[in-house]
Amino acid sequence: MWRLYLVKFLLNIRYNNALLEYLHGNQEVRELCGLGDHIPSESALSRFVSRLANHTDIVEDCLLKVTDQLRNLVPTLKHHKDKQDQQPTPLPPLGAVVAIDSTLFETYANPNRNPVSDPDARWGVKHSSRTKEGKTEWAFGYKMHMLSDATHGIPLGFTITPANENDSTQLPKVLKEVQNRLPWLKPGALLADRGYDSLANHKFVYGLGIIPVIHMRKPTAADGLHDGLYAELGHPVCMGMEPMEYVRTNPNSGTHLFRCKVGGCPLKGQGTKAITHCDSETWESPDTNLRVLGPLPRFSTAWKRLYAQRMSIERIFRSFKHSRGLQGHCARGLRKITLQGTMSVLTYQATALTRLKAKDSDRLRRMSIKMH
Ligand SMILES: [Zn+2]
Repeated sequence: MWRLYLVKFLLNIRYNNALLEYLHGNQEVRELCGLGDHIPSESALSRFVSRLANHTDIVEDCLLKVTDQLRNLVPTLKHHKDKQDQQPTPLPPLGAVVAIDSTLFETYANPNRNPVSDPDARWGVKHSSRTKEGKTEWAFGYKMHMLSDATHGIPLGFTITPANENDSTQLPKVLKEVQNRLPWLKPGALLADRGYDSLANHKFVYGLGIIPVIHMRKPTAADGLHDGLYAELGHPVCMGMEPMEYVRTNPNSGTHLFRCKVGGCPLKGQGTKAITHCDSETWESPDTNLRVLGPLPRFSTAWKRLYAQRMSIERIFRSFKHSRGLQGHCARGLRKITLQGTMSVLTYQATALTRLKAKDSDRLRRMSIKMH
């Protein structure tokens, strides 16, 4: 039954009766599941799933074992610049750079029925790059808050909440929970979009010895950026009221050097004869404003290079939804939804593990399985 249930997720089969139908026509899979010619009834299968939902801890143990194997195999990965590359560069170990994000997914219940058939689910607002500006999309269901390895695109851990939960305040909880499960996890940097941008999150992440690489949300008056010292995205402002450019960071003090743009800027409206250009320089300490300046400045190439890796977490969510049963499923209630989510992560990791074992790391990022 367990193997059969895995097949359901690996092949993204939505309905139990469709899974059993598939089994009828596929002797190999029947044997793989140890079923021989016996095909379980639909009610036996759904009873098994109901019972399994009471023991998600067992599934989580399986997940831990797969994660451990991934952790041992990832250091064997090397980056080849091209086919003739004799000296490939080793890639960072699992969990060196992590990303956090959430995705909203619907429950299998009609929210307009009274009483609602899923009392744990809530309405939440969908945020996605595809959502048009000014338009709000609502969905009834849950949110998966996930931590993933951003370099290799591998999910590491997650929590599930009702869909109305705020992303930003979940960050400390998710990070702590995943680190409790994976005590070896000591990331060097954490990537997150602007939904997580708060001083509290910056302090929490930096306090754990992790460099926060969090996109900046549009500043409000409360951020104290409108006192003429900083431009909109946190660049210090020079004498000519222009945003200054980031130059470098002093490795000993951690302070950042900013300079007026190359060649200086014309001083606006105050062209005295003596000074018509400014070429100001300023050293800024992240301690004065951790969120805006950061231990790694937002304007540096290193920051941009790290942040570009954040896209991998969105690819994982898309894969969960399109080929790992997180969307278009038949589960409702926090318990069964948690099982559904755990199975998505488990089968995703298992596929990644198979690709790694086959030294097929090129296909690590293309994770769907086609057997039909
Ligand atoms: Zn200037």
